[in-house]
Amino acid sequence: MTEQEAREALVDYGRSLFQRGYSCGTSGNLSVRLPAGGFLMSPTNVSLGRLTADALSRLDADGRHLDGAAPTKEAWLHLAMYAARPNDRAVVHLHSTYAAALSCRTDLPADDALPALTPYVIMRVGRVALVPYSRPGDTTPAATIRQLAAAHRAVLLANHGPVVAGRDLETAVSAAEELEETARLFFVLEGRPSRPLDREQIEDVQRVFGAAP
Ligand SMILES: [Zn+2]
Repeated sequence: MTEQEAREALVDYGRSLFQRGYSCGTSGNLSVRLPAGGFLMSPTNVSLGRLTADALSRLDADGRHLDGAAPTKEAWLHLAMYAARPNDRAVVHLHSTYAAALSCRTDLPADDALPALTPYVIMRVGRVALVPYSRPGDTTPAATIRQLAAAHRAVLLANHGPVVAGRDLETAVSAAEELEETARLFFVLEGRPSRPLDREQIEDVQRVFGAAP
């Protein structure tokens, strides 16, 4: 993928996520790792629905702003995921409603915060780790995220939302959508008898389809 194609993909996926209600206001941000090194990111204070290919932020491999608009203030989240996942080339961060609601719960295991309700969440997202709350602008959880992201393609920031990595932007967006839909199922089922997949069923899906990388 050329840099220009990466720019157009960020604009297209940003608009699609915004139009389908996955990001409201100026919340959420997207990034890709460029083939020549460094990153493209959505700028600060711009709706994902209004990104333009020539106004994205370009950062070097160390996360320094090179050109384009100032990057999202949450660039550090993306950089922490990339540092832990050298084979991934895209990161999606959303404040999507049901995943954000899930991130406020206190009754879910911190190393497996998203119940395995369908085989698809196992294939596309895997186990989701919960990152303790930090106020906006506090970057001290970067070390925790780097540690967790080595074994989790998706982490859930408490009282905030998900951060999801993928081998390309399509994979990362698809996993973020699957995470949101699974969180929605969790709340739809709340208070009703329900049955997440058991350990044997999860391992069966992983054996046949492979675990989420
Ligand atoms: Zn955020």
